[in-house]
Amino acid sequence: MPNASCPTPDSLREFVAGKLRAAEWEHVAAHLEQCTDCQAVLDDHDGVSDALMTSLGRLSSASPAEGRGETRWSDAVLARTSGRSGAISLDVGNDLAHRLMQGPVHLDRFELEAELGVGTFGYVFRARDPHLDRVVALKVQRAGGFASQEETERFLREARSAARLKHPAIVALYDTGQSSDGVCYLVCEYVSGATLEFRLQQRVFDADGAAAVVAELASALQYAHEHGVVHRDVKPSNIIIDDDGRPHLMDFGLAKWDTAEATMTSDGRVLGTPAYMSPEQAAGASHEVDARSDVYSLGVVLYEMLTGERPFHGNRRLLLLQVLEDDPRPPRRLRPDVPHDLEVICLKAMSKSPSRRYQTAAQFADDLRRFLQRQPIHARPEGYLERCRRWCRRNPLAVSVLAAVIIGSSAGLWHLSNLSEYFVRETALESARQQTTMLDETWRFYSQEIEDIDPKTINLPITEKYKTVHPSLPLPATFAIDLAARISQRSPGAEVRVYSRNPWPGRLDGGPQDRFDEEALEWLEANARPAEQPPAEYARFVSEAGRRKLLYYTARHMEQSCIGCHNHPEGQSPKKDWKVGDVVGVLKIVRPLDREIESTRQGLRGAFTLMLTIAGILLAVFAMAVVAAERRRKVNPG
Ligand code: ATP
Ligand code: MG
Repeated sequence: MPNASCPTPDSLREFVAGKLRAAEWEHVAAHLEQCTDCQAVLDDHDGVSDALMTSLGRLSSASPAEGRGETRWSDAVLARTSGRSGAISLDVGNDLAHRLMQGPVHLDRFELEAELGVGTFGYVFRARDPHLDRVVALKVQRAGGFASQEETERFLREARSAARLKHPAIVALYDTGQSSDGVCYLVCEYVSGATLEFRLQQRVFDADGAAAVVAELASALQYAHEHGVVHRDVKPSNIIIDDDGRPHLMDFGLAKWDTAEATMTSDGRVLGTPAYMSPEQAAGASHEVDARSDVYSLGVVLYEMLTGERPFHGNRRLLLLQVLEDDPRPPRRLRPDVPHDLEVICLKAMSKSPSRRYQTAAQFADDLRRFLQRQPIHARPEGYLERCRRWCRRNPLAVSVLAAVIIGSSAGLWHLSNLSEYFVRETALESARQQTTMLDETWRFYSQEIEDIDPKTINLPITEKYKTVHPSLPLPATFAIDLAARISQRSPGAEVRVYSRNPWPGRLDGGPQDRFDEEALEWLEANARPAEQPPAEYARFVSEAGRRKLLYYTARHMEQSCIGCHNHPEGQSPKKDWKVGDVVGVLKIVRPLDREIESTRQGLRGAFTLMLTIAGILLAVFAMAVVAAERRRKVNPG
């Protein structure tokens, strides 16, 4: 509850309306700094008091320039009433303005003639400088705008650096000063005309007119940048179009001070309209703000001149989000008669990333002049890839999910394909082993049976090949060779063969037939295992003429029952010193793998299709969620 020391409600209302005299105003302001009750009264004031409305009414019924000042002034007052910004005082300017209504007023040597408007910095008056006998614009700073004398002096010093700028499209800053009672003011060139903001309320510019004005402003910016001054607050209200239609940029060097105060609250929130702010300014990255930031803001000015609309709308928070994240609608969507080249120039100047903008204001001006002279422009429309890249940066979650799905499916596919390769190999090896065992068993059985029989009495329908070779018939090895040949004939693509390094003369075609046979034999000889252990095996997966197959070899060992025959001095064996266990030959099985591979592939394809379908459904659901969230964010940025 307000107590006795608190200002009366009327005083508060007059404070809000800026009607208090300087001393009273300071008193109320000082009190408000400490009294949360009074701050609450102001906050509960519905934002706009009767008195404030009266003041606003006074301003809106005045000149266009004043009308424009109204918004900023009310902003400042409202900012103060909600207790957000630092000390904002309109007292000095307001006081001068009031006195001016009653008669001649002086500020130092300057004779105030008329109030031109009011902005963040303070009141602006048309005044006469009797020393030089010229009309000037006098910008009188709000009292209390700077915390200390030191800060005021620093401001004046920096403002003076803008005074170096002499360019036909820059409103000259003639001088700065501070009156005896500490009021800080700027003496500027007076330009007779209206601000671009006002002009934009009347009409949209035609393409050439807009390009010409913006080209001139870009040249002015280039000049300032070359002199080390970045404007930071290029916007229609800071551009005056003079009576001859030429643009003049004003408020160089002020933005840093204005925006520091008017756009940032003590808790870091951004105030003021960010409609013309570059994304790096909107992000509060002041160290990244350079000449390209001015290029962006001028791009927004061009956009508005062409379309009659600002690229982004909504409350301050929404604006900030859009400046940071959304692409502006291309000007031709709003006004189809905007030339394509001018749209490209405008969008390039407004690129979110400074590195994609014109790197200098001169390049911007140059492209605009090329457009005006109907020459090819340098700017190129933003490519699909670049848009895609920016979308990815804006939607890191969606991109992460997409990447995870792609990486996951690829890894899954890779794993499945490895697994299938492994299965095919293992299955092929296993079935070759089984075939070998069966053949071995048959061979062994035959060898045992034949020991007790007189070979000459046997009339087996085998050994077509060795029919004439006596006594190869019906020796067990010949039986096995013949059996293998029969199996090979019946299974297309497969081969079962028994071969030896020392084939009997009658079986000379039974030696190694190619490099693999040779290698296998050598390896098996070198790695022969004792009979009680599983037989050594040598396997190779090869691809011939695009067909894959398994070459599988196991060793045949000399057995006791064969020794006599093989080492018999009159026998046909070319070697007579066989011992039990020697590798006497090799059983080779060739298995084509194409059928196995094909059926595994089919299974794999099925699994992958299923995986992709599931991933696709998940992605679609996710995409809908992202779009819905984005829509929600645009409608309700909070
Ligand atoms: P902001 O404070 O954000 O810059 P603003 O540009 O509207 O807002 P000021 O720069 O203080 O505020 O200017 C207020 C008004 O004074 C302008 O709209 C313009 O009409 C007028 N004005 C300012 N400077 C000049 C000038 N040099 N010559 C003529 N009129 C001027
Ligand atoms: Mg201004």
